[in-house]
Amino acid sequence: MGRLEQQVALVTGAGAGIGLAIARCFAAEGAFVHVADIDGAAAERAAEAISRAGGNAVGVSADVSRGQDVTAMFRAAEKSHGRIDVLVNNAGLNVRSDFRHLTDDDWERIREVNLDGAMRVARDGFGLLRASGKGSLINLSSIMASRGLRQLAAYSVTKGAVSALTRTLAVEYAPFGIRVNALAPGFIETALTERVLRNPAINRALLDRTPLRRFGTPDDVARAALFFASDDSAFVTGAELAVDGGMSAGL
Ligand code: NAP
Repeated sequence: MGRLEQQVALVTGAGAGIGLAIARCFAAEGAFVHVADIDGAAAERAAEAISRAGGNAVGVSADVSRGQDVTAMFRAAEKSHGRIDVLVNNAGLNVRSDFRHLTDDDWERIREVNLDGAMRVARDGFGLLRASGKGSLINLSSIMASRGLRQLAAYSVTKGAVSALTRTLAVEYAPFGIRVNALAPGFIETALTERVLRNPAINRALLDRTPLRRFGTPDDVARAALFFASDDSAFVTGAELAVDGGMSAGL
């Protein structure tokens, strides 16, 4: 028996990286998974791979920064099961830039996806989570929500806001049986961090600050997401779990 048997999950940005690992993990634990991504073909491929591995999934093309896409995504989920038990607000991006050179366009795009998108998914997904009777909303924040690292101002601001949104919604959604928690990954090996981790000096400096002496994998984050998704965390809401090899515990 999987830990998410009979459950329905929806994961945004699940065509690659952490979202894909979460979708795979949830499906392996028995959930039906709506695999959403801005790249519809990647979402389809991910859903097909999950089905080939014996799971149940469907791909859906959805850019979380577009209201009409999010509406269509939830309409399709409503048609198929009438509820969502686990909703993962994972889609996110980053553009590294010294703050003094940050363009309005980059600031807006990061905000539109990481913050406005997360807000829209959390707001518009409410009805389907309530229909679950015991919904779990999981937001992808970051350890950068509460620390400073150069060239990450816009990203960190949006993740700080996602953490604040998590605490507020935990209180506001609790009467409807919906738990809201956040994951705060450290440095995880995905396309998002590829460039920075390829720089030998930065790579070494980051590893030196990571007590467990390695970078995380998408599966490390997926297993933490499974905790928030399952009944193992039935009395946990408004929490933020660092998945960072101990980085944020240090100086
Ligand atoms: P990733 O490898 O770049 O994957 C992100 C996925 O989201 C991609 O498939 C991407 O599609 C998709 N996406 C981008 N914009 C979207 C949009 N507007 N609507 C829907 N989907 C969209 O990134 P990741 O590392 O897995 O990050 C996933 C989440 O974890 C993000 O919220 C990120 O901020 C957070 N996080 C990551 C790390 C880390 O170290 N990797 C650390 C802390 C937090 P395209 O590839 O086609 O753009």
